[in-house]
Amino acid sequence: KLSRRLGLLLEQIPHGSKLADIGSDHALLPLAAVQTGRAVSAIAGEVNPGPYRAAERAVQDAGLRGLISVRRGDGLAVLRQEEADCITIAGMGGALIASILNRGRAEGKLAGVRTLLLQPNVGEDILRRWLLDNGWVLTAEALLEEDGKRYEVLSAVPEDLEAGITNESLYAAAAQAGGERPYGMETLLIMGPWLIRQRGPVFAAKWQEEVSKLERILESLSRSELESAGSKRAEIKAQIREITEVLACLP
Ligand code: SAM
Repeated sequence: KLSRRLGLLLEQIPHGSKLADIGSDHALLPLAAVQTGRAVSAIAGEVNPGPYRAAERAVQDAGLRGLISVRRGDGLAVLRQEEADCITIAGMGGALIASILNRGRAEGKLAGVRTLLLQPNVGEDILRRWLLDNGWVLTAEALLEEDGKRYEVLSAVPEDLEAGITNESLYAAAAQAGGERPYGMETLLIMGPWLIRQRGPVFAAKWQEEVSKLERILESLSRSELESAGSKRAEIKAQIREITEVLACLP
């Protein structure tokens, strides 16, 4: 059975997609996408030999070698141009996902891609920044908790594709959610322009924990004799203030 995390990604794959799942491990997502008819075909990319073999075996066992191509290689290098219209990259850090996208973009591998579905384990702000800087509109965000861990799923489409929304309008509207003191861009990139407005219970728990963590750091810095401790404290206090402002607006 698919985890809720992968289930959430699956739901975001447009029906009839030509999917590429990069860092596919056991090819769970391509298998589910093809079996449910979400994807008409799929490519499972893996750089490491163990997961690559596991993916090959899983696809073979499911009798889906005709529809799912398992390929060994780094990031989007496994794709030929215009081969996929939906790319999923899940379960890695945001910085690694951004570097995979960067290299792929430079090699023209994002041409023809209409949907990016990204699930970073950390460094979500790095990915939101990458999307913004590279002409991808963030069309949806989801945050879920499973087995004591929290995951974010970011969906994006190319800016030149009619998405009914632009990054400009999205971030402007999200900033306004701050009321008299509009949220700053850094806050929106870190917390998420959709998530900040959805104000769900998982979101509240995540950021309350973050405040507690920052308070503990503040506490230990107050005992530090390092010269830099003062400016670090000021920085953390500002972060706490920013998050607390957002939390204060939560229902
Ligand atoms: N995507 C699956 C999921 O979300 O359940 C598997 C996540 S697993 C933690 C990360 C996988 O990405 C590993 O199997 C790893 O081998 C693969 N990986 C890491 N860097 C990669 C890269 N540059 N290109 C392709 N695969 C990569």
